[in-house]
Amino acid sequence: MPQISNETIQEVANNTDIVSLISEYTQLEQKGDEWSGCCPFHNEKTPSFRVNASKKIYHCFGCGVGGNTIKFYMEMEKLSFYEAVLALAQKSGIRVQYTSGYESSEENNHKQKEELIDIYTRISVTYHFFLTSSPLGKFAFEYVKNRGISDEMIELFQLGFSPPQRNWLKDFLLKKKYTSDFLDNSGLFSKNNPDNSFFYNRLMFPIWDRRGKVIAFGGRTLDDFGPKYINSGDLLHYKKGENLYAFFHAKQSIRKLKAVIFCEGYFDVIAYHQAGVKNAVAPLGTALTEDQIQLIKGFADTAYLSFDSDEAGKKASYKAILLCRKSHLNVKIIQLTEGKDPAEILFNQGPEILTNHVKNATIDSEYLLSTLMHQFPAHTPEGKTNICLAYFPYLDALQSDIHRDSCFEQLCQTLQLNPHAVMADFQNREQARKRLEIKTKDEKQNISSGIKPNAEMRIMLAVYANLDFFSLMRNAISADDFEDAVAKDMFITLEECYREDAVSLDSILTHLNGELSALVSKSVTSGEFAKNTKQTIEDSIRLVRKHSLERKKKALQNKIKLLQVTSLEKQQELDALVNEKMNIDNELKTLKVNNEPR
Ligand code: ZN
Repeated sequence: MPQISNETIQEVANNTDIVSLISEYTQLEQKGDEWSGCCPFHNEKTPSFRVNASKKIYHCFGCGVGGNTIKFYMEMEKLSFYEAVLALAQKSGIRVQYTSGYESSEENNHKQKEELIDIYTRISVTYHFFLTSSPLGKFAFEYVKNRGISDEMIELFQLGFSPPQRNWLKDFLLKKKYTSDFLDNSGLFSKNNPDNSFFYNRLMFPIWDRRGKVIAFGGRTLDDFGPKYINSGDLLHYKKGENLYAFFHAKQSIRKLKAVIFCEGYFDVIAYHQAGVKNAVAPLGTALTEDQIQLIKGFADTAYLSFDSDEAGKKASYKAILLCRKSHLNVKIIQLTEGKDPAEILFNQGPEILTNHVKNATIDSEYLLSTLMHQFPAHTPEGKTNICLAYFPYLDALQSDIHRDSCFEQLCQTLQLNPHAVMADFQNREQARKRLEIKTKDEKQNISSGIKPNAEMRIMLAVYANLDFFSLMRNAISADDFEDAVAKDMFITLEECYREDAVSLDSILTHLNGELSALVSKSVTSGEFAKNTKQTIEDSIRLVRKHSLERKKKALQNKIKLLQVTSLEKQQELDALVNEKMNIDNELKTLKVNNEPR
């Protein structure tokens, strides 16, 4: 860490007006040299927060916080001492000087970081211009508007558009006197061809640091070319696992509500903010990390999770619950109506419905139990054991003994199990697992002994052998379209890797269980699937979808046949079913057209 000189620190302390700084966060009233107001660090209605203007100190008689100007800014903005001094110096236009002991390589490092942040900020302004004011970005702008995003949000989140010409950015920046050497290490260009920009022809989402500086980008494709989202990789000045999208915009609200909403992606965050729910943030193309949770700790005591309701989203929620609980956070799950994401709900049903979903969030223990009851057959002993084994890590993660006891009781009651037996399994999980293995051996043997991949599994194997085709696949179908449990699992595994930005055979194999990973590595190395063309894969994907639709249609037809219209509600139910069936018929029709040989 570079050392800021004592002179600079003094200058910052002397030149920052503590009253106007604190007034940015809470309303202060003057009584002589003393100012008072409601504490910005804890929730209160009668003011117990005092600021002394000449001594430049503050103190809260309610929660006991106190300190000087720099301390206040550190606590309030969650900055290190170093960051706080830098930011305050900038606010007052003070030139920062470093101690002589401060090594020049570190100085260079720091200078380079600031230069990188500078260039990202500059480009984000240009991208924003392209989106909002240039014919180049017109279709991208229309896309955003069609998704129901307001002008206000486009401004607030500085959405942008990166031009399709891959050499444009390099030319533009060289003209601005940046050196090629600097640009090559900026993360803005392709590693293989440094004249080509990494982001092109994409809708751009700038990513900010805690101070509100642009440090990275996410980009969404607007055609079906390439992965749907790409994100800046780790750089000198940016580690994606340590930052949260929109944390800068959300932190005031997180602090006020003492709660944060973790959601999946950029559009989800924007939808929440547009609906007035301003404490929403998102991890940046990775699973939620401990560092990201640290970022909001001290600000929030409750985390709401708003992940997709598909299988991959459920797995992500499960992991996030454990992580948050280990960090002493309470957890609630926002359950959006099947298959809908926040942006769709905002657009189709309005902001009130979206905020209601937040208000009606389910407490994590209940959510977990009900998901596990769906996942495993709760009426069989094996199913019960499976549910317990999946629930135990949650009990481990809980930080309060009382809470753990009550969740344990709830588990036993729900499964109608003897608490002593469950406790025995809790304390000796290996034994429980072994018992389970013996019982399900027959079942497992069917899948494992020289597993014969069925049609759906073969499609997944083909995609494993040609990973570039996965984005094509996930745009067309979801995990629920698979009939075969193993194929479904293979899809979910890939989806997980995709969301963690780690799509490689290697990471897939670490996610898969032993037998399946043996099968996968065997068939991929055999080269059996390597010759699959885009065409054959597209056809196979359509086939999966077609079969899935046909199964759904059959189920619907059965329901329609059995439904007796005895009331208005039943009539509405029938209408909905018929409507759903019509949609399926329509999709089946278009699928057939595409399926014809070209
Ligand atoms: Zn206080």
